[in-house]
This record gives sequence, C-alpha cells and structure tokens, in this order.
Amino acid sequence: QAKSQGGNGYQFYTDDMNQRVNSRLTLENELRRAIQAQEFELYYQPQVCTKTNELLGAEALIRWQHPDAGIISPADFIPVAEDTGLINDIGDWALREACSTFYRWNMYRHRPLPVAVNVSVRQLSDGFPSRIKDILDHSGLSPSLLELEITESLLMDNVQQNVEWLDAIHALGINFAMDDFGTGYSSLSYLKQFPISKLKIDRAFIMDITSDVDDEAIVRAILAMAHSLRLKVVAEGVETEQQLEMLKRLQCNSYQGYYFSKPVDKMTFEKNFLEPMPMIGHS
Ligand code: C2E
Ligand code: MG
Ligand code: MG
Ligand code: MG
Repeated sequence: QAKSQGGNGYQFYTDDMNQRVNSRLTLENELRRAIQAQEFELYYQPQVCTKTNELLGAEALIRWQHPDAGIISPADFIPVAEDTGLINDIGDWALREACSTFYRWNMYRHRPLPVAVNVSVRQLSDGFPSRIKDILDHSGLSPSLLELEITESLLMDNVQQNVEWLDAIHALGINFAMDDFGTGYSSLSYLKQFPISKLKIDRAFIMDITSDVDDEAIVRAILAMAHSLRLKVVAEGVETEQQLEMLKRLQCNSYQGYYFSKPVDKMTFEKNFLEPMPMIGHS
C-alpha cells in the first residue's frame, strides 16, 4: 500500500515497505537502480549578502525522486551510498550536473555566479582530481566558479592523505568550504593544513543565536578567527529576520537559509533568482 501512496518522501520507511526498504541491502539495490534510471535531481539554495540580499552563489543539494516513495532526502541515502561506494557514481553525476547548469547560467551574466557542491570524504581518491578536471573541461565551467563543500569530521581520519588530495584539487583552481563548521573535531591547527577558503557556520549555532549568548559568542569567535585567517564565512540555516539582523551586527557577510529561500529545483531557481535568458540550449 505504501507503494501506491507516492508524494511524501517520509513514507519511504513506513507501512509494508518498511521491512523491504529498511534493509541496507535493499536500499543499496534501490540506489543502483536509481543511478541507472537517473532518478537524482539537484536543488539549489541561494547564498546571499546579509546587507543587500544580493545573490552571491548557490549550494547544490541532491534529491532522489523515488517512483514510489517520492522525494527522498540525502540524509536518508548518502550514508548508504558512502558505505557501499555508490557515492562515487552519484557524486560524479552531481558534479557533472552542477557544472553544466552553472556553465549555462553564467553565459549571460555580468557578475559570475559560483556553485558549491557537497563532496563526501569517501569520494576522495587518487583518481578523483583528474575526474573533476575532466568534468570541468567537459562542462566548460571555470574552476574558479566551482566550490567543494567538505565536512571536517572524516577529514581528520587520514589527514596526510586527505591534504594531498585536496591540494591536487585546489591546484586545478577549485576552492573548498568547510561545511557544518563547529560541529566536528574542529582542530584549528588542521584548518591551516587544508586548502580551505571558506567556513560554513553550522545551523546549530544560528538556531538560537538571538536568545543564547553562548551561541552568539561562538559565532563571534568563529568570525574573528575567520577574519584573521582571511577565510570567508557563510552562516547556514538562517530562518528569521532576527537571526539575519544579529548576523549583520556581527558582520557576517553572507548567509543561506529558509528566510531567503529553501533549496529549489532548477526551473524555480532560474525563474526566481536569475535574469531572463535567451531560450537556447535549455535541457
Ligand atoms: P549540508 O551541506 O550542511 O546542507 C544544508 C542542509 O540544511 C540542507 O539539507 C538544506 O536543505 C538544509 N537547510 C538549508 N537552509 C535551512 C534552514 O533555514 N533551516 C533548516 N532547518 N534547514 C536548512 P539537505 O538538502 O537535506 O541536505 C542534507 C545534507 O546532505 C547536506 O548537508 C549534505 O551534507 C548532504 N548532501 C546533500 N547533497 C549532497 C551531494 O550531492 N553529495 C553529498 N556527498 N552530500 C550531499
Ligand atoms: Mg553543504
Ligand atoms: Mg552544512
Ligand atoms: Mg550537514
């Protein structure tokens, strides 16, 4: 019966599908099928200036359009993709899709618009830097318009090797942002070793920033440190005007969050945030 309900992604784990899909093996097989069937889609969330709301860039966030279960969130399948190695195919697809979309969107812009793509540490390998280069070359997108978001926790498992891989990618002209900053191990000395140019302050610190003086102090400290290390900062998960006002006061220059926009599909992003474009090469 769950099969026929469709629509709401949260029904994926309910009813009689529960047993079938709850098993990792089934999810793994479903993921394999989904890769073949091209059931993934990238949504984009604007990153904007706190002072002017000017569009500064966008983060690509993957969605799985499951034929029975509806939209499935990455939190529910990325971990399995990572454990099974399927993250490589899915991650390469996400890079190809984001790069070609942003090549197209940048064709008619005066001000370049960069895209941030999430990359799992599990995707790093000897072959990854040259695959990224191929994807970029094929898309036509300038490497300076691609940013990779990486979370700190797994990076620390194998610092030496990961530094090498990130350096090789950085040498292509691609920048890195540290995602969910403040929630992992956050050893500041490691920060210095990786070629990171941006910190994304985790939503956990933004949530109560107007009422919790400790959170305010933490964000203040992150901003001070970022400033002295010449790192850019984006605040994640800004939902209210009060949070935005606080970030302005703290001189955090950019943010993303539901207050400005949820992640939206490609068509909606074009319609809401981009100038009208000539109708050529649409796909
Ligand atoms: P993330 O990179 O930290 O992305 C931020 C998450 O916060 C996204 O969830 C976004 O939809 C959500 N978000 C944005 N603004 C707000 C807000 O104002 N309030 C609240 N409550 N949430 C907000 P999403 O899209 O479900 O993605 C979850 C995580 O999945 C991402 O966290 C990222 O770690 C991972 N992910 C997404 N796409 C990819 C991908 O293509 N590859 C890989 N490896 N991981 C991905
Ligand atoms: Mg991210
Ligand atoms: Mg994040
Ligand atoms: Mg996250």
